[in-house]
Amino acid sequence: MVTAAQVKHQAQALGFHRVGIAAAGRPPNLQPLADWVAAGHHADMTWMANSKRQDVQKVLPGVQSVICVALNYYSPTERPAGPDQAQISRYGWGEDYHRVMRRRLKALARWLQTQAPDCQTLTYSDTGPIAEKAWAVTAGLGWIGKHSNLITRDYGSWVFLGEVLTTLALEPDPPHTEHCGTCTRCLEACPTQAIVQPFVVDARQCIAYHTLENRAERLPPAIEANLEGWVAGCDICQDVCPWNQRFGRPTDVPELTPRPEHQQATLAELAHLSETEWETRFRDSALRRIKAWMWRRNAQAIQTHPEVESPESATCSDESQCGQ
Ligand code: SF4
Ligand code: SF4
Repeated sequence: MVTAAQVKHQAQALGFHRVGIAAAGRPPNLQPLADWVAAGHHADMTWMANSKRQDVQKVLPGVQSVICVALNYYSPTERPAGPDQAQISRYGWGEDYHRVMRRRLKALARWLQTQAPDCQTLTYSDTGPIAEKAWAVTAGLGWIGKHSNLITRDYGSWVFLGEVLTTLALEPDPPHTEHCGTCTRCLEACPTQAIVQPFVVDARQCIAYHTLENRAERLPPAIEANLEGWVAGCDICQDVCPWNQRFGRPTDVPELTPRPEHQQATLAELAHLSETEWETRFRDSALRRIKAWMWRRNAQAIQTHPEVESPESATCSDESQCGQ
């Protein structure tokens, strides 16, 4: 009989930095997700409204446990500076995280099936209708911050999340408590006021959504004017978070080492990125989600708008603010 402790030991042996277990029969409160979708905050990301996301039994009938894992991806490499430098979100600096996570998740699922041959498993990492952040809270990995990312005590929010759903019953962990306290740094730093209230990000106002998901020929004027150099994602609300400033630590995952072609790029080169260059450059990158024409659109939007003064990067000086 495999135990929760053995599962956690194996997950850590596979390189995951955090692991916790939630009982499928005691699901997280998914009403905030339903409210977010009902308010239209998901923009045209229709997959967020998939009813399976509200009921894990529809994903794997008979599921008893959700094993949640987190992989630290933080790199201390400096962001490129200068008016012609394009800003790319940290999650995209290394190899495609879907592949990095899938290899480890599949290995964990295979191991589980050697221990309990009759159990069924399914693995996900941003690849299916699982309310990942809510399950991670229930499994005790961390809490959802006011910027809506999952924050861990040990690594901040620089983590990729993944799950192994299984029909095996495992001892669950207690859910994590929330530790944002009275801090509002992320709300104040967001250049487009996309955090419309604590814990609620309206994708329609979020630079990350528009640079990655918006398939329109032109970005909305209010977004174009406030891109602040971001061509792929946006890390502003995570960069200013005290938990990230204090607890972000370099990843030990070799595949996530920043690649110069993913981390550094000029607006001038991206504004004229050819299909051939895109094919070669983003072959095994999560940034491949941004098509060549979108890179050109995003870079050209920044080039055609005057430089906007960035809000001064907040540093963590008031311990009481973030409930640590
Ligand atoms: S990712 Fe950027 S635009 Fe979106 S909420 Fe955070 S700071 Fe605002
Ligand atoms: S600790 Fe502060 S900056 Fe971080 S998510 Fe919470 S409110 Fe935002």
